[in-house]
Amino acid sequence: MRRLVIAGNWKMYKNNKEAVETLTQLKDLTKEVKNVDIVIGAPFTCLSDAVKNVEGSNIKIAAENVYPKLEGAYTGEVSPKMLKDIRVTYVILGHSERREYFKESDEFINQKIKAVLEIGMKPILCIGEKLEEREGGKTLEVLTKQIKGGLVDLSKEEAEKVIVAYEPVWAIGTGKTATPEMAQETHREIRNVLAAMFGKDKADKMIIQYGGSMKPENAKDLLSQEDIDGGLVGGASLKADSFFEIIKTGN
Ligand code: PGA
Repeated sequence: MRRLVIAGNWKMYKNNKEAVETLTQLKDLTKEVKNVDIVIGAPFTCLSDAVKNVEGSNIKIAAENVYPKLEGAYTGEVSPKMLKDIRVTYVILGHSERREYFKESDEFINQKIKAVLEIGMKPILCIGEKLEEREGGKTLEVLTKQIKGGLVDLSKEEAEKVIVAYEPVWAIGTGKTATPEMAQETHREIRNVLAAMFGKDKADKMIIQYGGSMKPENAKDLLSQEDIDGGLVGGASLKADSFFEIIKTGN
């Protein structure tokens, strides 16, 4: 019932030339992919050429951040209107790196989500617990706070357009992944929180991606879990062939 959405997160890697080269390879590799929606999150400087490069292909482009105002005196920021203007489709929001290094609060992330939805793009809301929170039995509490804070005041129709990416912070870039069973259990709990907020019908339609050291070797087991509807892939998305290996396991 839910289509898999597999997204790459290139973070602060790749200049414009490298981005276009990788997308050109990925486009070619994924020509026959039918059952997976493919998204690449790229740095701001690559977005315009990236969107042009993938036009007519299976690949959609995401920004990795946005400022929640349409325009104004906000030196150095990029607005949803600017992203929409160059035909960016998705925006990754609330990534743990932004929460940690840039002190982004759930409230600020919520403003960004609303701004992105209002202009007609799709937000990918990242949530995840830190190691000490999991070990302290606080995982569900932390995730519930991030979901409620991030999605507060959204209508059911708006919520349905949001992708939630569950990324345990201890698994990001560390090579440690949640076991498929552990991830499935957490995804089920996330869907229950969404159902309590927006109703079971909507929650059943929402995409919940797993992220954190997803790679070709573990993707199949993760993606075959009932409540895991795709991935948000960092390191393994930087090379077209390894990212394609992951996409293939879901196709
Ligand atoms: P990783 O990153 O796949 O390199 O662990 C995932 C992410 O940060 O989105």
